[in-house]
Amino acid sequence: MNISEQEQDIVIVGGGISGLATALALRRKGIKSMVLERSETLRAAGVGIIMQPNGWRALDQLGVAAKLRQTCTEIPSGVFISVAEGKCRESELPLGKGELRCLKRMELMKALAEELPVESVYLGCRAVFILLDPLTSNPLLQLHDGTLIKAKIVIGCDGVNSIISKFVGVNSPKLFSRCATRGFTYYEGGHSFGDKFRFYSSNDVTLGQLPVTDKLVYWFLTRVLTSQDLSDAKKDPAYITKASLEAIKGFPEEIVELVKNTEPNTLYLTELRYRAPWDLVRTKFRKGTVVVAGDAMHAMCPFISQGGGASLEDAVVLARCLSEKLKQAAEGGGKRLVEEALDEYVRERRMRVFWLSLQTYFIGLAQDNTSKVKKALGIAGLILVFGDQTSHTDYDCGHL
Ligand SMILES: Cc1cc2nc3c(=O)[nH]c(=O)nc-3n(C[C@H](O)[C@H](O)[C@H](O)COP(=O)(O)OP(=O)(O)OC[C@H]3O[C@@H](n4cnc5c(N)ncnc54)[C@H](O)[C@@H]3O)c2cc1C
Repeated sequence: MNISEQEQDIVIVGGGISGLATALALRRKGIKSMVLERSETLRAAGVGIIMQPNGWRALDQLGVAAKLRQTCTEIPSGVFISVAEGKCRESELPLGKGELRCLKRMELMKALAEELPVESVYLGCRAVFILLDPLTSNPLLQLHDGTLIKAKIVIGCDGVNSIISKFVGVNSPKLFSRCATRGFTYYEGGHSFGDKFRFYSSNDVTLGQLPVTDKLVYWFLTRVLTSQDLSDAKKDPAYITKASLEAIKGFPEEIVELVKNTEPNTLYLTELRYRAPWDLVRTKFRKGTVVVAGDAMHAMCPFISQGGGASLEDAVVLARCLSEKLKQAAEGGGKRLVEEALDEYVRERRMRVFWLSLQTYFIGLAQDNTSKVKKALGIAGLILVFGDQTSHTDYDCGHL
């Protein structure tokens, strides 16, 4: 560990999409920060990530969109395929207005990290405890090896099981009744799926499939969670493949082949955790000069593929709010102005992430085959509240 115990201005806990994007957004505004990541390398669990128009707007603001566009195909249209008794019925899958692409997660992480000074990202640094100094009310962060960091501002980007969220008073995430499997399939001679987003749905299983390039295809599958999915088996590619193939019995042959031929080291099986939409309305998200962003603030099930996009938006909004007030703070009134900036950020993000989270919550209910009431509630909620189910992609987080 090479961190001295001196005071730091801004410490970001977590070097995932949210932490790196926040550090980059701050850097673009001329504000230094330090990122603490517990893993020894930058992680990109889940291989692919769908980026929709709102996410691309945020990436444009961060100055990395042009580079990323070169790594993946644009996906102009989608097909919804309903699978029943071995037969498929196709209809249009509505996509948002604008750019949709599927990125390699690692490309996204690399693009963000490459724009940061190497010495600002500390790998192998796990934050274990945080409190507010009783004398100064500044945050004090303790790391796994006992190092104590005195910070002026702490931004918790430490994911769904965030310790910083707990500290600021966010309720624990809930476990959803379904799980997700994701993987990449590589086609040496090029695949024949074209440039469409295909979304298959049977009674209990959904499978999405998108091209990343003309040789690489990303797929994700959701199905009912079993106790075995929560055991060590979830790390075994053979188990993941077997359980996925079991789930897609009756799906078209090319989809079965897609799953069978997945690169084993790209297979991920994850349980899904989410923060209840009503928690997002009533939680303060700030304590002193500690605040949260990304999944630490608004973990949601991935049904509208927006958790990552929303994390990028958080980064832009947070950096904008902070930079405006930090300029004024330089002339006096420091901590109060910082707290105002963090509250402004929370105010701006709260309803945005509430609506995203509510939509995914209703989709989750609509997929629940164990209760007719819940299913009906989910479908009714989607129809009544979210008439246009792609309008979440219209959001513009604004300029940095
Ligand atoms: C199955 C699935 C599919 C998804 N698909 C999409 C999609 O297509 N499009 C989309 O936009 N979103 C998608 N999402 C959501 C997206 O993955 C998340 O919203 C996004 O990764 C959140 O980033 P984050 O940085 O907040 O959290 P994370 O990616 O979890 O990163 C948190 C980081 O903090 C580190 N950390 C944790 N605790 C500590 C600590 N105490 N000290 C130091 N470091 C710590 C972790 O090691 C990690 O690197 C999907 C999610 C799932 C589960």
